[in-house]
Amino acid sequence: MTFETLSVFPEVFEPYLGVSVLGRARRAGVFDFVAHDLRDWTHDRHRTVDDAPFGGGQGMLMKPEPIFEAVEAISSSGERPHVVFFSPCGRRFDQRCAERLARERRVLLVCGRYEGMDERCYALADEVLSLGDYVLTGGELAALTVIDAVARLLPGALGDEMSAVDESFSPSGLLEYAQYTRPASFRGMGVPEVLLSGDHARVAAWRRESAIERTARWRPDLLDAADITDEERARALELARERERGTL
Ligand code: SAH
Repeated sequence: MTFETLSVFPEVFEPYLGVSVLGRARRAGVFDFVAHDLRDWTHDRHRTVDDAPFGGGQGMLMKPEPIFEAVEAISSSGERPHVVFFSPCGRRFDQRCAERLARERRVLLVCGRYEGMDERCYALADEVLSLGDYVLTGGELAALTVIDAVARLLPGALGDEMSAVDESFSPSGLLEYAQYTRPASFRGMGVPEVLLSGDHARVAAWRRESAIERTARWRPDLLDAADITDEERARALELARERERGTL
């Protein structure tokens, strides 16, 4: 799979994508990465990518010509990419979206800056994504977030010791269960006895219960869509109500 970014700061991606799990995966050929510089598609001496908004107002907007030229040129070289734009007005990026993008072969992530983009640019987008309800100074962190979340799902990205199959949000729609490592006793805080028992069935049951409890406590909004039994749902809703009453 190939990720490509289009941005006025193409140099910010490399340091993050060169280290740890993603760095290894990339070196092993699990995914490829290309950073395009939007200014390569400007034609004036100052390599201008922005202009003042019609109708007045503060700040500058990214002008459409370089973005159209760039996306068209990149798209027509090789397989047509799935084109993602970023904006706080986009659809919220989540694990399901990451799973869907992991099935693409080529993804182009277009990063805004300044006060955003001329609205006509979004005609180039297959989808517009937002990281959440806050405003960043640019789309580069959003692109890195998407690349990170998607790349770790690709076959071979995580080592044998790690797995993307039993984590928060997927496949059950629950948060991950609580986890502990050595020491078994730390500053007076212990570890649930069952985890030390070596009894795999009891450990599995405890983890399920822990995942439901944590979801009910921290993200009750996820319970509606979670893959849990009626009995588990009743218990989770009771926990969520306790939380609302402040008794949890
Ligand atoms: N004026 C715009 C914000 C522009 S921020 C507004 O109020 O909606 C500049 C760029 O940062 C955007 O074009 C987008 O690419 C990126 N960005 C900012 N916040 C983001 C978010 N929550 N998710 C994804 N991208 C974001």
